[in-house]
Amino acid sequence: MGLLSLGTPLSWTETKKYAEHVRTHGITQFLHTWNRVKDRHGDELLWGDEVEYMVVAFDEVEKNAKLSLRQSEILAKLSSICNDLSEEAGEKFSIPTFHPEYGRYMLESTPGSPYTGSLSDLISVESNMRYRRSLARKHLKAHEIPITFTSFPRLGAPGVFTEPYFDPADAVSSHSLFLPQEITNPHARFPTLTANIRSRRGSKVAINLPLFFDSKTPKPFIDPTVPWDRSIYAEDAEAKNGAALPDHIYMDAMGFGMGCCCLQLTFQACNVPEARRLYDAFVPLGPIMLALTAASPLYRGYIADVDCRWNVIAGSVDDRTEEERGLKPLKENKYVIPKSRYDSVDLYISQDPLNRPEYNDSSVPFNAVIYERLKASGVDDSLSKHVAHLYIRDPLVLFSELIDQDDMTSMDHFENIQSTNWQTVRFKPPPPNSSIGWRVEFRSMEVQLTDFENAAFAIFMVLLSRAILCFDLNLYMPITKVDENMQIAQKRDAARKEKFYFRRNVFSSHSPSVTSSSSSVDENGNPKPKEKRLRNCFDTPPRAADLIEPLEDQYDLMTLEEIMLGKGLEYPGLLGLVRAYLDTLEVDGETNKKLNSYLSLIERRANGTLLTTASWIRNFVRSHPAYKFDSVINQEINFDLMTAVDQIERGTRKEPSLLPEGYRGGFSDEGHL
Ligand code: ADP
Ligand code: MG
Ligand code: MG
Ligand code: MG
Repeated sequence: MGLLSLGTPLSWTETKKYAEHVRTHGITQFLHTWNRVKDRHGDELLWGDEVEYMVVAFDEVEKNAKLSLRQSEILAKLSSICNDLSEEAGEKFSIPTFHPEYGRYMLESTPGSPYTGSLSDLISVESNMRYRRSLARKHLKAHEIPITFTSFPRLGAPGVFTEPYFDPADAVSSHSLFLPQEITNPHARFPTLTANIRSRRGSKVAINLPLFFDSKTPKPFIDPTVPWDRSIYAEDAEAKNGAALPDHIYMDAMGFGMGCCCLQLTFQACNVPEARRLYDAFVPLGPIMLALTAASPLYRGYIADVDCRWNVIAGSVDDRTEEERGLKPLKENKYVIPKSRYDSVDLYISQDPLNRPEYNDSSVPFNAVIYERLKASGVDDSLSKHVAHLYIRDPLVLFSELIDQDDMTSMDHFENIQSTNWQTVRFKPPPPNSSIGWRVEFRSMEVQLTDFENAAFAIFMVLLSRAILCFDLNLYMPITKVDENMQIAQKRDAARKEKFYFRRNVFSSHSPSVTSSSSSVDENGNPKPKEKRLRNCFDTPPRAADLIEPLEDQYDLMTLEEIMLGKGLEYPGLLGLVRAYLDTLEVDGETNKKLNSYLSLIERRANGTLLTTASWIRNFVRSHPAYKFDSVINQEINFDLMTAVDQIERGTRKEPSLLPEGYRGGFSDEGHL
């Protein structure tokens, strides 16, 4: 969750006074970094995952699965365990890191040091993830379990959903009708972020997720669990006054979104141009991977008609004022802003001629003063636009002790705005005083129930990132189509039922031919030497004047299966490309077998022979004996679902519709071959 600075946080009224100060110095800091590292070249592939967990407390007496709010104690314990381990282990293996997250019931873990491009690192991802999970699990209370579940089904539902119980009436930061103050990480940053988003917006956030109507769901649906008449805070009247829509699940606090768990991946690039190419290629993949990893159909005790968390988080941190949302003419504010701070990317940023100007076809407000300043300081047009677009936002949290910084050595003000632009992909400049290079973070995926699946998606993405660079792939399409895909991706069962815009011909004129038989031979038919590891620093050939087809002919509507597995003779699918890339590597039999087990999971999720996590969850609920076909997830269903999820992870419950037969569970070290 970005940086956690300590100090005295300022209220929104105070923070606002320093907004210009933060932006100006943020840009100064960016420019220092840019001038220092813009020509940095030759960084090797390093990459890493972030896995988020919710700690669930099982109350066997009440048959209730609740969120355990012991994050602070748990993190303190885990960090002392990890310290002891690293003293014991010396250099032998990397000790994981556990991080705080927004929800006081959440944990995040990352590998202690990033993976390299070695194939042994590649196939260690699952055991690395399992090791982290088992460490967390071992040091919790006996009835607490870290589960990787995207959205907790009964967060904000009536009754007791946290341990210990707290009354939502005390929600001073969010003013929520449903979530108590104590749901939020107590570190000053988080309650302040929550309160300042609400204050800046001028009202509580309001998320309305379409309800899934089952055979006995009342229609119209006026939610009986909304306390329509409660009013402790002025904003409480909002639900009654129209913020809560009929036929929807209404959520009114940051915790509903930022309390969701996800799976993120970060890749170090060779240099700035490679980072920018990768960033752009990841943009259209954001919604595709969101649909394929869809894992969150349940919210606030109800079944939603969507399968993903994305719009919930977007709404949960939407700090735009009414003017910025276009509901009132601009008076106090400068821009009409089409999207929340948490949303899909608005601009491609590569300078490669493949990135044609017409692909950046959405209306993107940007800070003109900053844009001019960046350009005058020698930053190129597209990167200046990218940064100036992020910099239309205000800082949300500022600590009084950190207002004045040394712009030569700090990136805090830059990161203040950068890290509260939560987009599907993030372009990350090297931090000061570190050996880290330019990085790109892929952020759209939902977390899966098991580390086998999480590793499979991580491995698929790192291989795909190499295929993109190795085969010089072109995935560009108009960014407004990517935005449309973001909405399509979240629909119920999009992975099976929907079609997505996708580029028809992903090869550039320089792409080597990549059918699996031909990628291993050169143009004269001689075998190419195989590479031993995943790497960076692929050549970018000088671009010939590629024939440019009319825009509408460049993309097509495809099912997820077609996007992943191929369409016609010319498009081999993302998996086909990954397999062709693997063919360029020297992979031993064992490694190959293991990699195939991961790719086969991805293939089966794409072709529907295995369900997405979201579909499996829906099926579980709808076939539960206590389900009344009224869209409600009661305490008993929730308890049994959480129990099942834990059993699936451990391998004691078989779910052949979700996982391959060979899946043996989290505590077996033998993999799933
Ligand atoms: P944030 O929360 O800001 O997105 P984290 O620190 O939680 O970032 O996670 C960053 C991920 O990047 C981790 O998986 C880590 O292993 C990985 N990582 C660390 N250093 C590098 C690097 N030089 N290149 C690529 N990835 C890295
Ligand atoms: Mg996180
Ligand atoms: Mg993180
Ligand atoms: Mg991250």
